[in-house]
Amino acid sequence: MNLPGSRSVRGTLMVLIVLLGVTALAPAVLDLRRSLEDLRGAALMEQRNQVAAACLQVVNDFAFERGRTAVALFGADKASEETLAFIRERRAGAERGMERLSAALDGLSGVSGAETLRAWDAVLVLRAESDAAMALPFSARDPSLAGRWLLTAADLLAHLEFLLAELGRAPGADGLYERVCALRVAVVQFRNVVGRESMMVASVTAGVEKVDEAFMNRLLLLRGRSAQLWEQIRQEALLSGGAGFSTALENTRRAFFEGLRPLQESILLGGAHGTELPPPAAYTKESVRALDSIITSLDTVSEDADRVVRHNLATARRTAAGGLVGILAAAVLVAVSARVIARRITRPLRDIVERIDRLRDPGASLQLSGVRDEFTTVRHALDLLDHMLAARERDARALQEANRRLAELAETDELTGLANRRRLNAALAAEWARARRDARPLTLLMIDVDHFKRYNDALGHQAGDERLIDVGRAIRGLARRPGDVAARYGGEEYVLLLPDLPSSKALAHAEEVRQAVEALNLPHEGSPHARVTVSIGMATLTPCGESRAEDLVRLADDALYEAKRLGRNRVEAAPAGAAADCPPPVAGRDPA
Ligand code: GH3
Ligand code: MG
Ligand code: MG
Repeated sequence: MNLPGSRSVRGTLMVLIVLLGVTALAPAVLDLRRSLEDLRGAALMEQRNQVAAACLQVVNDFAFERGRTAVALFGADKASEETLAFIRERRAGAERGMERLSAALDGLSGVSGAETLRAWDAVLVLRAESDAAMALPFSARDPSLAGRWLLTAADLLAHLEFLLAELGRAPGADGLYERVCALRVAVVQFRNVVGRESMMVASVTAGVEKVDEAFMNRLLLLRGRSAQLWEQIRQEALLSGGAGFSTALENTRRAFFEGLRPLQESILLGGAHGTELPPPAAYTKESVRALDSIITSLDTVSEDADRVVRHNLATARRTAAGGLVGILAAAVLVAVSARVIARRITRPLRDIVERIDRLRDPGASLQLSGVRDEFTTVRHALDLLDHMLAARERDARALQEANRRLAELAETDELTGLANRRRLNAALAAEWARARRDARPLTLLMIDVDHFKRYNDALGHQAGDERLIDVGRAIRGLARRPGDVAARYGGEEYVLLLPDLPSSKALAHAEEVRQAVEALNLPHEGSPHARVTVSIGMATLTPCGESRAEDLVRLADDALYEAKRLGRNRVEAAPAGAAADCPPPVAGRDPA
């Protein structure tokens, strides 16, 4: 992968972390954006629903005010105190609703309530006029007033219905909310239509209207409309109404179709035939009961709408919070990854490279040239280390060999190649200890070239040296067993150490040495034997008590002296019992 900054592993890792972060964060950010939009939609829906609630309050109270005011304006007498009190109460309710509505409309974008407010202002103007008129009998009133009131009131109600329908189409609202709102509009329309029906029948009880064909046509038109709306409400209720609404609707059906309608039928019948009518108060009571039951239904639809709004808002809030948590989690993941990679990889790597840089020898044959990243640096450094270790191993092997040679030289006599005095001493101490441990005999032959001074004097030191080499070779040829040591003791004297040999065999061995030198047949004019010969002093001891290796050397030396004295070119053994504190060695005894 050829990423920018890939010249260093740290750069590459940082780019990877950024990519990881973008990959992890991007979907989370998109999710959050979507859920924030949902949240905005749900909040707007809630706001619109509040406006709708205010709207409903106005519709409810104003519809009653409209009906009762109309009946009073059509009435022959001035309005009763009871009617005026009812109207006052409903007006107050409608005014409160209107205040709420205009306040709520202020903060709402996308919906204009201007037309509704203008219609409300028109109602306010007419209210003053109708207050004055209701205090007068019918004959003293402006005959057009009742009609104008009804038109103005119908205009306001139509605007409120329209506003309510518009509020139900909240952008971002789900299908359920829109259906519940449509149901609410249908109930309001039903309320207004049956309100108008009821107003017409109330006019008959008040004696304002005659039940003639024209009247019945108008009433049947309204009834057709209300039947249509009722059917629509029933169908909608099956789809989107809650259980509460079904109950409320059943109550409305009973109050309206079983309570009010039969009463209306008997009034219409009475009106048509001129028979006695029920008192207006009785009809008003039944009418208010039926209309109130519609309001109860309306309240339950509104509760359903509230529930949908609350549910949507809560869901949107939860989703947005989830999105926020997702972003935080992704950010934390990226931060933790960056920190872990920095702590566990990039920082240690940087330290390693810095150390390598410090260690790098500018004069070294293997330069870390063309380095591309930290790992290449480390690889080059390891190659360098390999080279250094191989060279060091070669040096160590050479040194070991040199040391071995040195040690050999330190223990070898330069002239004859035999063990020197140092190695002889070490071998004597070791063999003495072993012989003591195993209670075995140890034999030492002290060998001296006879009349060697004369040889030197006659033929020179160089020739003397050559003879010393010859004698040494002969003696070495008789150090056959692994423990046997042939050494140059000094000058023209040699020692042959023979462990674990019974003295009888040792004596024979010494004699063999002597004969071997004699057999070299090296001419020596200064010697009575006319050739190079050796005298040998032999001592054999089995170490015990206080006896020491030096005793063995001394005894052999004494025996050599004796051999010289007795004529040279011969072997003499140390006398038995010569060593201190030891049981007398038995000459020739075979310990095996
Ligand atoms: P003896 O039979 O009594 O041993 O008589 P000798 O002459 O051998 O003994 P002496 O002690 O008088 O002389 C030893 C001689 O050995 C003296 C010296 O010149 C000779 N010598 C000692 N070391 C060397 C050496 O490394 N090279 C040579 N060429 N001669 C040596
Ligand atoms: Mg000597
Ligand atoms: Mg000698």
